[in-house]
Amino acid sequence: MKIRVVKPKIWNFEVVGGKDAWKEVVYSARVSGVPPEIDEKEVFKMIVKNDYGSALEHIIIKFDVKMTKGNACELLEHRIASHTGYSTRYAKVDKRYGDTEGYEIILPWHLLKKDDSEKAIFMESVSKAIETYEKMIGCGVPRESARYILPFCQAVGIYHFTINLRSLLNLLSLRLCVRASPEMRCIASQIYFNLLDQLPILKGLIGCRGFMRGACPEEGVTGVRAGKQHPVYPPCPFKNKNSDIFIPTRSEIHIASEFNLNKAVKIQEILFKKWASWDG
Ligand SMILES: Cc1cc2nc3c(=O)[nH]c(=O)nc-3n(C[C@H](O)[C@H](O)[C@H](O)COP(=O)(O)OP(=O)(O)OC[C@H]3O[C@@H](n4cnc5c(N)ncnc54)[C@H](O)[C@@H]3O)c2cc1C
Repeated sequence: MKIRVVKPKIWNFEVVGGKDAWKEVVYSARVSGVPPEIDEKEVFKMIVKNDYGSALEHIIIKFDVKMTKGNACELLEHRIASHTGYSTRYAKVDKRYGDTEGYEIILPWHLLKKDDSEKAIFMESVSKAIETYEKMIGCGVPRESARYILPFCQAVGIYHFTINLRSLLNLLSLRLCVRASPEMRCIASQIYFNLLDQLPILKGLIGCRGFMRGACPEEGVTGVRAGKQHPVYPPCPFKNKNSDIFIPTRSEIHIASEFNLNKAVKIQEILFKKWASWDG
């Protein structure tokens, strides 16, 4: 029984339409009335920055993913995408589509730098679980039941993923944040570099939600934006108020400009009442 330690990986990355795929977004902007005098690259960037997202749905991106079975359900949370996993009902877990045989696992991030004795404790338990899986299949237990014993760290054989650019930017904005899980951050970072490689026009437009919106929605999360640094998350590079890459949270913007929330609500409601009345 061979167990191989592998890393989270993105491969077969394809932007349908190749390096010119972004021009499809410009075409749809022109269809909706954006005048020809505005440079095409500026039109594309404006669509991303102003979050006129529906035009971005014309760009389709496909790739394959290697990740843990545990992380697969996190990726599956991104519903506006098409997901295909390799079945562990029909195939034994050590057989993979278009790949070498053997069991693959991914070590958790926080064990990578630990010494060998800690990794050995982990591997002992993983080996035991896989051994039990083999034994159950040997006794005639169907694969779909034997697999229940397998650990979170078991790598999926292959996971095929198709997503449009609007939804991918949403995924990246959520998962390129220090609050995302280490494995999702690894996958999102690989997607980021693959995407920039194929669509370099996106450089400077992609990052965490704070980077993309100019204000971070992670309000009051202790140890991430405020309070003592969280022992597990990496420090947010944008939280230092004295740095030239400071990105405020929404309430920090409001504090800075002495934003009057009650007044803003009142003014909004005056407008909403007028609009609701249809009195002209
Ligand atoms: C740091 C972090 C922590 C998280 N913690 C948890 C957790 O503790 N528990 C948990 O369950 N999940 C957790 N999640 C997952 C999170 O709640 C989302 O499910 C996931 O990030 C997918 O985001 P999404 O819904 O925007 O993406 P998609 O499902 O791809 O949706 C894209 C967009 O489509 C729209 N949309 C999709 N479906 C609907 C719908 N039914 N109704 C209205 N609009 C819709 C929304 O605008 C949405 O942003 C966490 C995510 C992050 C990044």
